[in-house]
Amino acid sequence: MPISLPNLFRGMILLLLAAHVFYMYSMARTLAGTIGWSWGTATIAAGFALIMLLPFIWAVALPEYPEMYLRHVRGRRRFERGECPNCGYRIATQDAPCSECGSAIEAPEPYRIGRRTIRTFVLINLCAWGLGLAAAEGWAQFDERTFLQEARAVHAADGTASYSRARAWPSDSARLQWDLDRGVRSHGERIDWVHPR
Ligand SMILES: [Zn+2]
Repeated sequence: MPISLPNLFRGMILLLLAAHVFYMYSMARTLAGTIGWSWGTATIAAGFALIMLLPFIWAVALPEYPEMYLRHVRGRRRFERGECPNCGYRIATQDAPCSECGSAIEAPEPYRIGRRTIRTFVLINLCAWGLGLAAAEGWAQFDERTFLQEARAVHAADGTASYSRARAWPSDSARLQWDLDRGVRSHGERIDWVHPR
């Protein structure tokens, strides 16, 4: 299937929403402070990311903007100029189908938000949600595994029993901490402040 302009546009919206989900999931997962896969954390973070998609309901018609223009605005303009709404070919009569593309010659109906609009929007949001969740969880786990490798390397090199660094973006407000006796933990600035030692 060739990539049409409307599909490219919808793909871009999907990626932007997925980036939003990625960020929101990462924030919630970091606040939960767990290491590795956790059903509880994943459920809460996924639910949070889903709720944070709700404000985008205003954009329900956004994925159909290209069609709105191509079919409804441009189509009507062509029809009023005596051209085929579909291909722009100059037409002699409105009674017969267009001799160039074969589509019926009739004035395009005004754009309306319908069931299809809502279905498309929900589908794009669900895909973005799944994509964003998977990417965020995978990224966080990758960062934690990398951190553990770093800690082990530091420990192997000079016997250091503690190692710490910030989590990878976008969770870099929290830190990962490794101790020989306690393993890997995650903590944010606030926990440090409550327990200054
Ligand atoms: Zn035509």
